[in-house]
Amino acid sequence: MTKVEQIWNKILGEIEKKVSAVCFDVWIKTIEPVCLYKNSIVLYVPTEATLNIITKRYADVVKDATNTVFPSITGIEYVLYDQLPAFEKYKETEKTPEEKIEATPEEFMRFVPDYNFDNFVKGKSNEFALAVSKAVAEKPGKKYNPLFLHGGVGLGKTHLMHAIGNYCKAHHPELNVIYVTSERFTNDYIESIGNTANDNACKEFRDKYREADLLMIDDIQFIAKKTSTQEEVFHTFNDLYLKGHQIILSSDRPPKEIPTLEERLRTRFESGIVAEINPPDLEMRIAILQNMCVAENVTINKDILQIIAEKVTSNIRDLKGLLSRVISYANLMCQDCNNLEMVLGALKDYADDEKEIVTMDIITEKVCEYFGIDKKDLVGKKRNKEVVYPRQVAAYLMCEFLAVPLETIGMYFDRDHTTISHSRDKISAQIKESLTVANQVKDIKNSILKR
Ligand code: ADP
Ligand code: MG
Repeated sequence: MTKVEQIWNKILGEIEKKVSAVCFDVWIKTIEPVCLYKNSIVLYVPTEATLNIITKRYADVVKDATNTVFPSITGIEYVLYDQLPAFEKYKETEKTPEEKIEATPEEFMRFVPDYNFDNFVKGKSNEFALAVSKAVAEKPGKKYNPLFLHGGVGLGKTHLMHAIGNYCKAHHPELNVIYVTSERFTNDYIESIGNTANDNACKEFRDKYREADLLMIDDIQFIAKKTSTQEEVFHTFNDLYLKGHQIILSSDRPPKEIPTLEERLRTRFESGIVAEINPPDLEMRIAILQNMCVAENVTINKDILQIIAEKVTSNIRDLKGLLSRVISYANLMCQDCNNLEMVLGALKDYADDEKEIVTMDIITEKVCEYFGIDKKDLVGKKRNKEVVYPRQVAAYLMCEFLAVPLETIGMYFDRDHTTISHSRDKISAQIKESLTVANQVKDIKNSILKR
């Protein structure tokens, strides 16, 4: 990536926060960075019509975004095709290889963009949970407090929490929204008590969570074994609740069925609204697959989708996984997804106990959830910091978990195997040097194993 591309990527990141996804895709993404020229960045726009729209509607947004991330860039020049040759001599030719881009474990709250309300398929089994989640996202802390979501593995609890997070970021940007897994909460807490080098660590921990306007703790069943963490959750809960701040909890079962959960916590968890998510019926499973076809841009007829939907009854993650298996099988065999024989071949050795096995897809999903990024970006071409570090972590975990050659992992990311070995070595070195990295990797590993 050239320097100007890196700069433009950063600016894009800012612009993305300020315009709708559609405008971003339709207009902003057509812009290409050309070079830096004096104190300006030169941007290429493909047509005159686009240039008109961009200068009329988005020039200020682009300017503000640039000013935010690079105050030293004071001008923005839009050029059309015929003006390009004039800037040829200012272009850089050297590309920075991916490994050279400084990748850092950033600590701020991001939510997986794809986990939103729009692509959460509604059905009888989840409509109540969806409705309350939306109500809470619209007016946090007002009506349904706390919200306790429960349901089996892979039924959409984490998706709904991220959707609430995304919604709040877009509609109430002033709110401090915190999402943590109960693992992360527990580890944070334990570290804060054990941190003798910093007298303030305990206070910092408390402040961090008690300053939340909306606190989500995912998979709360995992705190049940830890008495001191339960105590801390109790105090955090009370503190936020009294201030009228929103609390959202999720679990694989209802509060009364969480063994060793203290009574006082159980009553608090049940004091607001408890919403259950049930396994989807066949019709809804087909709807989920249809949605996924649209997202993946493939056409598969309903009979075939029904065959797939009948195979997996109780876990939407596995259901989607099976469809992506069919799609990649079809690609590999150069066949149409509607070829029945091919589909049956792809499904042949699918067994329900398959979820025990860790796959590259599962590692990818968990890494994306942790860092709040979309899968298509993690495996895609973007090379900004926000995705490079998570990608390296994913590659590292794949090397750790899976007995597959580096070349296979490379193929998954569409990258050279040397990039993969570089990522692996880089992350394993960082684990030794940085507690943050070590903790992040530990958390993600746990979420992969406990899925
Ligand atoms: P849980 O946290 O309950 O174990 P997740 O929220 O991680 O489950 O969901 C697993 C996968 O299934 C995710 O990829 C998620 O996007 C998808 N998923 C779950 N419910 C739905 C739904 N109603 N519509 C579309 N996708 C869904
Ligand atoms: Mg989850």
